[in-house]
Amino acid sequence: MRALVVRKDGDEKPVAAVEEITADDLPAGEVTVDVEFSTVNYKDGLCIGPGGGLVRNYPHVPGIDFAGTVASSDDDRYAPGDKVVLTGWRVGEAHWGGYAEQARVKADWLVPLPEGLTTRQAMAVGTAGFTAMLAVMALEDHGLGPGQGPVLVTGAAGGVGSVATAILAAKGYEVAGVTGRPETAEYLKSLGATQIVAREEMAETVKRPLESETWSGCVDAVGGAMLARVLGQMKYGASVAAVGLAGGAGLPATVIPFLLRGVNLLGIDSVMQPYENRMRAWKELAAHLPMDKLEAMIQPATLKDLPALGRDILKGQVKGRVVVDVR
Ligand code: NDP
Repeated sequence: MRALVVRKDGDEKPVAAVEEITADDLPAGEVTVDVEFSTVNYKDGLCIGPGGGLVRNYPHVPGIDFAGTVASSDDDRYAPGDKVVLTGWRVGEAHWGGYAEQARVKADWLVPLPEGLTTRQAMAVGTAGFTAMLAVMALEDHGLGPGQGPVLVTGAAGGVGSVATAILAAKGYEVAGVTGRPETAEYLKSLGATQIVAREEMAETVKRPLESETWSGCVDAVGGAMLARVLGQMKYGASVAAVGLAGGAGLPATVIPFLLRGVNLLGIDSVMQPYENRMRAWKELAAHLPMDKLEAMIQPATLKDLPALGRDILKGQVKGRVVVDVR
């Protein structure tokens, strides 16, 4: 079978190439899956390229997400022919992932393919879209509802941002998208954003801890100075879901928005989410993510395209969602 294998010699940089491997090369696990589709997330860029401290051992097969059909199973929950999806659990980082025609994993890490989605659509969603959904769920669980004012999405043209924009718009929210790529404005509007905010406007360091109350919620894929800025612009009692660090891991903020406006900062982790919450998020995605909008986000690819795509996503140059046809 074919796989994207990353090899690293001593202190040399890792090198990724498509190779032939056998089922015997796969790691131990209860379920072997014929992988149909995978995708490219920011973390995949790290695991294909520099490693970013995520990959433990080489040679390594990256791919943090995959969807496919069970080939064999030692676990009662899954049988050959079942359609399944995997995101998270450090698969593709510490464990071999989805960039191969087969993957072998723990049954606990899988979820059944959500009703109403194909394996290709599930990978157009992938970790990025799944995380966007978790973020919207967290905001709504903390009181966000349509009609309260615009919801801000940062890193809007990226994977998390694109899916968050489409879900929020479909749920009836007014969506403002922050992007550093003005050429993506039409794309973001097609997903349902009604306001485009230039990255430069939001990237400046906080000068005043409180600015005018503007956003009723925020899905933040950027972090850093932008998140600090956003906190000071939230409406009274509103929440920000912190998802990513595309703009930096620091948070040069003050606590004033928390103390004087009751703003909430909600942390979102997609990797270790328990099974019930995963099922809830996938169900919500199948119900609320318009499939025509998802289709518009897709950039198709194959295994051989991955080394270049890995570099692009680390430079913030991937638009929407890459879907990798692994077969
Ligand atoms: P993408 O690269 O697809 O999107 C990130 C977007 O952020 C870019 O498209 C760009 O959007 C914007 N951006 C990039 N660099 C900068 C910068 N220096 N300053 C401001 N904005 C910038 O990645 P994903 O959408 O897959 O992931 C987004 C973030 O979320 C990543 O940090 C990732 O690690 C994190 N993540 C976290 C998860 C979790 O479980 N918490 C799960 C999945 C992802 P634009 O061009 O529109 O400005």
